[in-house]
Amino acid sequence: MVYNERLHSKDFFRLEHIIDRNGDIKPVNLFLSKGLNLMDILNIRDIYGVVPLSWKRDMNSSNLDTNSNIESTTFIIKGNEITLENITSRNVYTALVTRLSDVVSVKEKMKNIHKCNFSEDEIGIIFNRPRWCTLSSILREFQFKLLHGIVYTNHHLQMFNFVDTNSCSFCNKHDGTYQHLFYACEVTRTVWEGCNNLFGDIDLSTLSWEEIQFGIDLPNKGKGQLVNHVLLVIKLLLFLGRKTKQPPTILHIKSHIDHDKVEEEKLAISRNSTSLHLNKWENWH
Ligand SMILES: [Zn+2]
Repeated sequence: MVYNERLHSKDFFRLEHIIDRNGDIKPVNLFLSKGLNLMDILNIRDIYGVVPLSWKRDMNSSNLDTNSNIESTTFIIKGNEITLENITSRNVYTALVTRLSDVVSVKEKMKNIHKCNFSEDEIGIIFNRPRWCTLSSILREFQFKLLHGIVYTNHHLQMFNFVDTNSCSFCNKHDGTYQHLFYACEVTRTVWEGCNNLFGDIDLSTLSWEEIQFGIDLPNKGKGQLVNHVLLVIKLLLFLGRKTKQPPTILHIKSHIDHDKVEEEKLAISRNSTSLHLNKWENWH
């Protein structure tokens, strides 16, 4: 089951709303005419991509009830039939966690998207690191999406025909893959080099591609947390910089991190965990 508030609000909540009777995804123009935006359409493409082939084939033979409303839709969760109006977020969360426990599929995904062979323990560390190193939900979500390959750069957008070229927004020369945008691009290199002395003993300009993409193997406390937090900030700002074709400046990066520090301090005070907070941020000047 997938729930997306925006798609629901535009009356896209059943497979037949996005798949035609031939089993193909409906035309982009239809989605645009219903008020959906680029991100909505990318979400629909993601959903379409994971629908089993047999279901798509069945779109023609099934007796589709296009007038049914979402309230009458029922779901089977842990063997119990529940209508959407009676479903709770706890029901959904439990169902999702059960599915995510299939480590094998995550392992395969990591291999396909990132061309890396990680052990189950390493995958656990990589996925938990954003939660360990920052309280920022924006950074956690960004890294989670990145690990799942659903942060879209020109490399991906061109495959969907949403942009004319896959060229990197900064240098305009190379395919804008994750590795190029976040690590190899000559413009990106100047950003990392500008951050070389943010921490005395850890030079961010010499990090490997794997360290930038998955985080550095450092203790999940104090300075280790801070360094991995900073990596996420730099990657997020590089990604956002694509839109204006301007990479983030060091001042921009520092002010974003200063802001995160203030926000984390508020949370730390409300959670009575100021010593952990101070331990992490004492290395930030
Ligand atoms: Zn480039």
